[in-house]
Amino acid sequence: MARLLIDEETCTGCEACLDECPFGALEMRGNLARVNEKCTFCGACVDLCPVEAIVLEKEEKEGEVDINQYKDVWVFIEHKSRRIANVSFELLGEGRKLANALGCKLSAMLLGDGVEECAREAIQYGADMVYLTESPVLKEYRTDSYSAGAANLIKKYKPEIVIFGATTQGRDFAGTVATTIETGLTADCTGLDIDPETTLLRQTRPAFGGNIMATILCPRHRPQMATVRPKVFAMPEKDDSRTGEIIREQLPIGEDKVRTHILDFIQGAETVNLVDAEIIVSGGRGVGGPENFAVIRELADVLGGAVGASRAAVDAGWIPYEHQVGQTGRTVRPKIYIACGISGSIQHQAGMKTSDIIVAINKDPEAPIFKIATYGIVADLFQAVPKVTKELKARLGR
Ligand SMILES: Cc1cc2nc3c(=O)[nH]c(=O)nc-3n(C[C@H](O)[C@H](O)[C@H](O)COP(=O)(O)OP(=O)(O)OC[C@H]3O[C@@H](n4cnc5c(N)ncnc54)[C@H](O)[C@@H]3O)c2cc1C
Repeated sequence: MARLLIDEETCTGCEACLDECPFGALEMRGNLARVNEKCTFCGACVDLCPVEAIVLEKEEKEGEVDINQYKDVWVFIEHKSRRIANVSFELLGEGRKLANALGCKLSAMLLGDGVEECAREAIQYGADMVYLTESPVLKEYRTDSYSAGAANLIKKYKPEIVIFGATTQGRDFAGTVATTIETGLTADCTGLDIDPETTLLRQTRPAFGGNIMATILCPRHRPQMATVRPKVFAMPEKDDSRTGEIIREQLPIGEDKVRTHILDFIQGAETVNLVDAEIIVSGGRGVGGPENFAVIRELADVLGGAVGASRAAVDAGWIPYEHQVGQTGRTVRPKIYIACGISGSIQHQAGMKTSDIIVAINKDPEAPIFKIATYGIVADLFQAVPKVTKELKARLGR
């Protein structure tokens, strides 16, 4: 355990530390600052004290972690209102490959309230076991309660690998868990595999603004942890006949230890759901202006699809960032991806090349997008797209 100490001889009672503590863990008692039970040992106050009266003592490590104690691959099962996020299924599919390569079990880590049905579903999608913590405190995702539950399970059962979806929740959660249990975390991976020689998890992700792909290892700490964007891996098949074990553990904290309280959920203005769209029609610089996106939108509407965009179109201010596909936008894997006036840069391809069918419409026959396209139309998009839309409207009766 860490300890935060305030030197009574040195403290001048200036109160400088009180407002700076993000957790309200410092208070005055008499003329001296005192630390209370809310302290998380973040150390934010230490450098702020003008007289250096605050000292953070960290427990000396007893050498390196015994990595041989850790086994099995775990996938964090993210859910909302008892509906599992697709990325968790995708990770169960990939986790199965990692577990097979290591010759170990694949397990799911599930936290929530009344979520046993999700545990069974995780088994049907490939988990051999589910480590389950249920509590009313876990009804909705909150960083404190979920990370306390996960840290408890990980410390007790010692998985070798834990993977999370790189969703808004997963990014917050995985980072907190990694710092709580003091291990590494590779965020936003686009590839995972096992090094055949060392059996370490090779975690690949774009680095230096996407100009290189870096493969990151975590050799001395456990578990090895990574987040992976939705749609990077394919959905596995569901097998209703699969059975598995559910291991239950109590949540080690109560509501009083959770610093956030959810008052209400408010639907934001963002209605673009590119990640789950089965058909995406995207426009790039070739669209030429914001008003011309009407052509793209009309085709998307006829197909019941979503509108995507290249970064060039987003940077030009023609369409909001939420629509951007690519390395610094969304990763998508729709059944059909129609790229209109998009050259097909490496960064754009990074977000869409695993689409089942790629249709490219571009007036330049040498455009790189044609190299990955299933179907290519060399044409001016303002002629081709309206024709395709008209034909589809007639065929689909819309
Ligand atoms: C670190 C980094 C991250 C990046 N992340 C992303 C990302 O997430 N997503 C992304 O998209 N890009 C990203 N980029 C930018 C990327 O490198 C390209 O600049 C961008 O994808 C180009 O967009 P575009 O294809 O729309 O434009 P261009 O490359 O300019 O291509 C426009 C295409 O439209 C065609 N065209 C023009 N007029 C017509 C017409 N009337 N009819 C038909 N075709 C026409 C042209 O022939 C051309 O092929 C990133 C770059 C960097 C360095």
